[in-house]
Amino acid sequence: MVELSASVDDIVADREDSGSVSCNICGGSEFSDMRGRVAVQCASCGSLERTRLLWFYLERLSLRRDAKVLHIAPERGIYDRLRDLLDPGAYRPADLSPENFRFAQDIDRIDLTRLDEEPSGHYDLIIDVHVLEHVTCNYAYTLYHLHRMLKPTGLHVCVIPILGGGYDECFQDIPEEERVRRFGQSDHVRWFGRDDIDRSLGSVMRLPSKFDATSDFSREELLRANVPEHHWVGFNASTVFRFRREDMLLQPRPSASPKASGTGRARTVANKMSSALAPALRRVRGR
Ligand SMILES: [Zn+2]
Repeated sequence: MVELSASVDDIVADREDSGSVSCNICGGSEFSDMRGRVAVQCASCGSLERTRLLWFYLERLSLRRDAKVLHIAPERGIYDRLRDLLDPGAYRPADLSPENFRFAQDIDRIDLTRLDEEPSGHYDLIIDVHVLEHVTCNYAYTLYHLHRMLKPTGLHVCVIPILGGGYDECFQDIPEEERVRRFGQSDHVRWFGRDDIDRSLGSVMRLPSKFDATSDFSREELLRANVPEHHWVGFNASTVFRFRREDMLLQPRPSASPKASGTGRARTVANKMSSALAPALRRVRGR
């Protein structure tokens, strides 16, 4: 996880502008420091700037109680709110390592490198924050399947850190120091950079032309929730992407024939994937 840094002056100035500050998820008003960032982590629910910005957008969705929601690597404050808002059985918190989420007794296991057996068209909403940089397979595989799992009207709301420089990725066994240097954290396998985001994430997802939280929420609201100004605009580590199902650019071709080759479910899925990846592969080869 790569953390934004902010000067103390920025934080103090923002907080002076905003008057009293409280977490928009749990109402907590105490904030502690986090990785050099002053007073950013809610002492009650653990939310960070990006978690609170995300909640602004999630709250606005006005979810029905029976909405099917998959929440990957759930944040405690958002987990508590969604647990209250949604019917039992409609909300599925899940992670590769459920044991790390002791606050969520009902958490399920999910492996984002093995999603073939997950049902299609099932979820109204999928939520993940700072997850994709940890996933140890081609991220197009994960995004393709997450979007396949959405209902036609479903939304994938996520925060994918986009930082300086260009794309980098490594699945090999490299020294921890090198992993931290290249990816910002010892358990990250990739880095999305603004320099070539159109050719990395943008080659598989339809990205918005811009992100500006102030076009959706007032400056006062954001400051009151302790979301500092440098998180509001542009692609950064807090940008909240709200993808529709069709924003996944890799789609099965209508002409793809299930009897083209192979037998069995695994082979069929593999064929669908290669059909889905064909346009992107053609684009890459065409360059
Ligand atoms: Zn909180």
